[in-house]
Amino acid sequence: MNLANFQATPIQKICREINNNVIYIKRDDLYPISFGGNKARKAVLFFEDFIQNEFNCIVTYGSNKSNHCRIIANIAASMGIPCYIISSAETYHPTINSKMVTMFGAILKQCPISEVSITIERTLNELIARGLRPYFIQGGGHGNIGTQAYINAYKEILDYEKLSRVYFDYIFLTTGTGTTQAGLVCGKIIHGDERKIIGISNARKRAFGKKIVLDSVNSYLLSIRKKLIRIDEIDFIDDYVLDGYGKYNVQILQTIKETLLHDGIPLDPTYTGKGFWGMTEYLKKNKIFNKKVLFIHTGGTPLFFDSLEELENE
Ligand SMILES: *Cc1c(COP(=O)(O)O)cnc(C)c1O
Repeated sequence: MNLANFQATPIQKICREINNNVIYIKRDDLYPISFGGNKARKAVLFFEDFIQNEFNCIVTYGSNKSNHCRIIANIAASMGIPCYIISSAETYHPTINSKMVTMFGAILKQCPISEVSITIERTLNELIARGLRPYFIQGGGHGNIGTQAYINAYKEILDYEKLSRVYFDYIFLTTGTGTTQAGLVCGKIIHGDERKIIGISNARKRAFGKKIVLDSVNSYLLSIRKKLIRIDEIDFIDDYVLDGYGKYNVQILQTIKETLLHDGIPLDPTYTGKGFWGMTEYLKKNKIFNKKVLFIHTGGTPLFFDSLEELENE
């Protein structure tokens, strides 16, 4: 697989305005490997690090819906690298992503959710004992390398603004493990910009989620010797989490249907559909009008197809 020098993903204005705000979408779902998305953008940098440091197998983890696991398994397979995926057994009904993980020949280790970290540790130790050099990637591609991927994406946004003379007052995204948001916030700080970057949480509650984004931002800023930021500089919204990861409502399904129907852009119920719906509610609730708003489409296209039947019936 060729992982070098991809062009910027497109930014596209959608035909509907929300609360008189003009909405643009950065199509990171079109990032050109393995059905795209933020995990693909991050994975490219992780594999650069993997190759540079001469590791020879990969260990990571994620749920049955994980886009991260699909992409890591895909790239690993293309390079003939053994790939170990650890996943909690409780929720493991097959999804399109998990079927692809199996298809790519990844070695799937299922365990109770409370044993995920010990299973990771055991797997790493076993591989080391066999004389291998395992490369561990945190779930969702967390860490400074993942953050770097979205500093790069932020630069693409700046380049677009310069060329099009459209300036975004707000950037919204669905936030999960927090690295994507951390990268955008770091990008904003590095370039000295003022706008709001608002993460709509798809699972985590505010206190924990916000702290992780802050830690990720500061860990990166520390690594480049920049001044650290305070917790109140992170906008992390948990009003639209509903009952947690993977839980959605009728409005989310309607948002997905509408966005596909009017704009030809697929969203999914676990990540981008939830974030886009949350953004819509947030703009209304906070009486935000007449702004230019950019939503980062973080991918997850296979999850759209998991929900297709339900969308049909909606
Ligand atoms: C993982 C994921 C997110 C959340 O990104 P984080 O960097 O983990 O916060 C958002 N959207 C999609 C489609 C994802 O797969």
